[in-house]
Amino acid sequence: MLSAKIELVKGDITKLEVDAVVNAANSSLLGGGGVDGAIHRAGGPEILEECKQIRARQGGCPTGEAVITTGGRLPARYVVHTVGPVWQGGKNGEPELLANCYRNSLRIASGKQLQHVAFPSISTGVYGYPKDKAAKVAVQTVKKWLQEHENSIMQILFVCFDEENYHLYKELLADER
Ligand code: ADP
Repeated sequence: MLSAKIELVKGDITKLEVDAVVNAANSSLLGGGGVDGAIHRAGGPEILEECKQIRARQGGCPTGEAVITTGGRLPARYVVHTVGPVWQGGKNGEPELLANCYRNSLRIASGKQLQHVAFPSISTGVYGYPKDKAAKVAVQTVKKWLQEHENSIMQILFVCFDEENYHLYKELLADER
């Protein structure tokens, strides 16, 4: 049953005791502002150290892709770092790239048999993706992935930091039940 597998909360993703939190990183993997800054601040230097090792191996993370580190000092066990697209008007493949972020994060998390995975609203801060459009991509992509992986144990938590995102997700999730 789909509705049992998707939950919505308002708040700070760094506080969640889940198997993995997803980070809206940038392709350098060296940290930034917004949720990225909050995750590195709360999680401590171990996360950045692992990001640097990944960077040394593969030279950062392309837009739409994802990598995984441990959660450092976060209550979450792992952090999946994914790089959302910068909004450039919507005609540069942004929706597909954003959907790839959700799909690739889910693929990595399920590969590690993780169950509870929390997503922030990727690209809707500094990267400027319109919140209504991004929420639709997030909900549709996760819903489709869960349908395609119906035996998966995964439980998805959408974490909205601001009221506007929270209401957008709430409406979309209510519609789709
Ligand atoms: P991006 O560069 O992908 O736009 P941002 O971190 O600037 O990433 O913003 C992505 C979303 O994360 C925004 O909606 C922002 O409000 C939200 N956000 C910021 N801090 C947190 C946090 N501590 N927990 C959850 N979401 C957060």
